[in-house]
Amino acid sequence: MNECSEVHVAQTGHNFRDCFGPNGRERRSSHAWVKGSVNDVLVPIESYHLFDPFGRRIKHDTRFEYDRIPAIVELCIQAGVDIPEYPSRRRTNPIRMLGKRVIDRGGNLEEPKPWRFADPSSLNDFDTYRAFERFSRPSLSDLPKIAQETMAAYEIVKKGVRKLMRKYTVKACGYCTEVHVGPWGHNAKLCGEFKHQWRDGKHGWQDATVDEVFPPNYVWHVRDPNGPPLASALRRYYGKAPAVVEVCMQAGAQIPDEYKPMMRLDIIIPDPEEARMIA
Ligand SMILES: [Zn+2]
Ligand SMILES: [Zn+2]
Repeated sequence: MNECSEVHVAQTGHNFRDCFGPNGRERRSSHAWVKGSVNDVLVPIESYHLFDPFGRRIKHDTRFEYDRIPAIVELCIQAGVDIPEYPSRRRTNPIRMLGKRVIDRGGNLEEPKPWRFADPSSLNDFDTYRAFERFSRPSLSDLPKIAQETMAAYEIVKKGVRKLMRKYTVKACGYCTEVHVGPWGHNAKLCGEFKHQWRDGKHGWQDATVDEVFPPNYVWHVRDPNGPPLASALRRYYGKAPAVVEVCMQAGAQIPDEYKPMMRLDIIIPDPEEARMIA
């Protein structure tokens, strides 16, 4: 059971007492570290797949008629990627909207056939479930290469999502992590983060940011992953990085310059004794 959402990339967890998990107080706010999974590094954000994002709005009672898939995959489908399992209405010309009003629906192309018994193997590539079992352990000498490829892929996805979101509307709930790819949000009343009776579980839709669709998931940057745990006293000297960037760097990748300032690579970290003198 995870106590809170803190993620740390190193042999041992850090010693900062900033756990706000349900039992955090019993440990005087120190974290209870367990081994992480792919999903702790790459936070899964799912949304409903819509055959037609401009069609009928999802109601609370009809929500089970829709598949939940990674929001980025849904964004790509709406932008034109064909995945037989998740058909999508294609139009001859783009929908035109004026504010919230659709002024031109565009003509429909031939409707895709409902999917049946196709080979679902391509979908496995999007799924991190049991990835540890499905992919064999890489050899140590391959790690830097894999790290570099992963770093490059991360940048491609981040830039691609940013571009697609300029063209396709994505909504995010202002109260919880729910994301909806489409112009209007949905009406499933599952918003539980902020229990206000008067909202009746309704999400509060706003335009989503790239970070809400592809969360950077910042972690502390660890200079020596095999060294002693990060010390509270030195906290202000440490930098942060998206978890994927931190994992890739520790595995031997060169990282893009844009992350270097936030990782505080130029700061000289004093030893804890020195820090106590300064403080
Ligand atoms: Zn914690
Ligand atoms: Zn919500």
